[in-house]
Amino acid sequence: MGEKAIKDKCGVFGIFGVDNPAEYTYLGLHNIQHRGQETCGIVTSSEEKKESKGKFKQYHGKGIVNDVFNEKILEKLNGRAAIGHVRYSTRGGSSLNNAQPIIVSTKNGVIAIAHNGQFANYKRLKRELIEKGSIFKTTSDTEIALHKFSKSNADSIKENIYEAFKDIKPSYSIVMLTKKELIGLRDSSGVRPLVIGYIEDKDAYVLASESVAFDIIGAKYIGEVKSGEIVIIDDNGLRREQLFNPGKQQRCIFECIYFSRPDSFVFSKDITISVARKEFGRQIYRECPVDADVIIPVPDSSIDAALGYSYESKIPFDWGFVRNHYIGRTFIQPTQTKRDVGVIKKFNPNKSIVDGKRVVVVDDSIVRASTLKKLIKLLRKFGAKDIHVAISCPPYKYSCYLGIDTSEKEKLIANEKSIEEIKNFIDADSLHYLSKQGMLDNKYLREGGFCTYCFDGEEVIKRE
Ligand code: AMP
Repeated sequence: MGEKAIKDKCGVFGIFGVDNPAEYTYLGLHNIQHRGQETCGIVTSSEEKKESKGKFKQYHGKGIVNDVFNEKILEKLNGRAAIGHVRYSTRGGSSLNNAQPIIVSTKNGVIAIAHNGQFANYKRLKRELIEKGSIFKTTSDTEIALHKFSKSNADSIKENIYEAFKDIKPSYSIVMLTKKELIGLRDSSGVRPLVIGYIEDKDAYVLASESVAFDIIGAKYIGEVKSGEIVIIDDNGLRREQLFNPGKQQRCIFECIYFSRPDSFVFSKDITISVARKEFGRQIYRECPVDADVIIPVPDSSIDAALGYSYESKIPFDWGFVRNHYIGRTFIQPTQTKRDVGVIKKFNPNKSIVDGKRVVVVDDSIVRASTLKKLIKLLRKFGAKDIHVAISCPPYKYSCYLGIDTSEKEKLIANEKSIEEIKNFIDADSLHYLSKQGMLDNKYLREGGFCTYCFDGEEVIKRE
């Protein structure tokens, strides 16, 4: 086929049973904005009163929710239920064509769908559908599910979903809206998160990629949608059913290391993921103790790991870099040159903290190493004496095919260089990665299965 599907590293949100669902969705999406900044969208459906047919309204835009939506737009998106989506993609540009939620007409009525993840067998499924005459409008693999939907002859929406998804391999965490229901569906391996919340005074249920979306709207975190489970929310409340048998659990470990917000409950044992990240930091020190004067994070994503390293080593933590918050994420800049400039725009060493000191810089991961190379050069310029680097995950060697956007394999520095070579490339005095076992033994993580493909290349969910 030649064409590569867009990797949808995204966030989804859904709410049922409030008078201003678009406003709730806007706020929820705002709190999961880190999951995607390219496009965003909200779809609402109005209450299906007996005399009316129910109506869908939609608005999509390029950029972040704060810039795309305003009061006037949100007011027009009236209804009783809504779903929303934030999307980030390195491929296919930021075309609005690929923005979600997508609305389609099916035998069982109009539905809107928003997806986080990437189907491991999208190539085969797409080829088969094209051979049978399907025409694709987007390059997103979500459309595959919609084609499968339209081909199903099932009588109920639940059966329709079963028919559409029974051949689709993970990963997917999906929210859907019909005229009457909000539906959540999570793949049988539980790769991407999807959680349930409840707003007590409104008696309204909420679904989201991360629980941090609930905090901003006063919803209580109830728990996760289980692997292979479908959750149907309507005027009668919430129903849960195991639509597919859970398979070998393949929760994305990178959600725990980097992607999810630290204040979210993600794949952890009833604690926010920041607690587990501190444990990652403690463990690197236990594995590779280094003598130093100060531990400094690369803010924001490695703050917890750096704190953990500091607690374990009893070496003080301090703000060796001050982050400028008025630029986007460095990694997200599309070209190498822009990314390099981005690092300097984003971080500035704090001279009084690093001058003449032996520092341990803690970061959550090294992808191409462009960030650390620049930061170490800056630290040396600002007088740091010895610079040790501790990374709170193992060497990142394989590009994710289940929905985390990273560079092609060839661009991942750990794929082509040894740890010693990477240390030399970034000009550090020492470089230590957390071991895979040390990472998986983290006592705060859920038991029973994580996908570690990006570190070991073990393709448990086979690509087709
Ligand atoms: P690099 O400079 O290419 O080595 O990127 C490393 C930095 O990017 C780390 O500080 C991470 O916090 C961040 N990072 C890691 N993975 C991703 C990703 N998939 N998307 C965006 N940023 C990432």
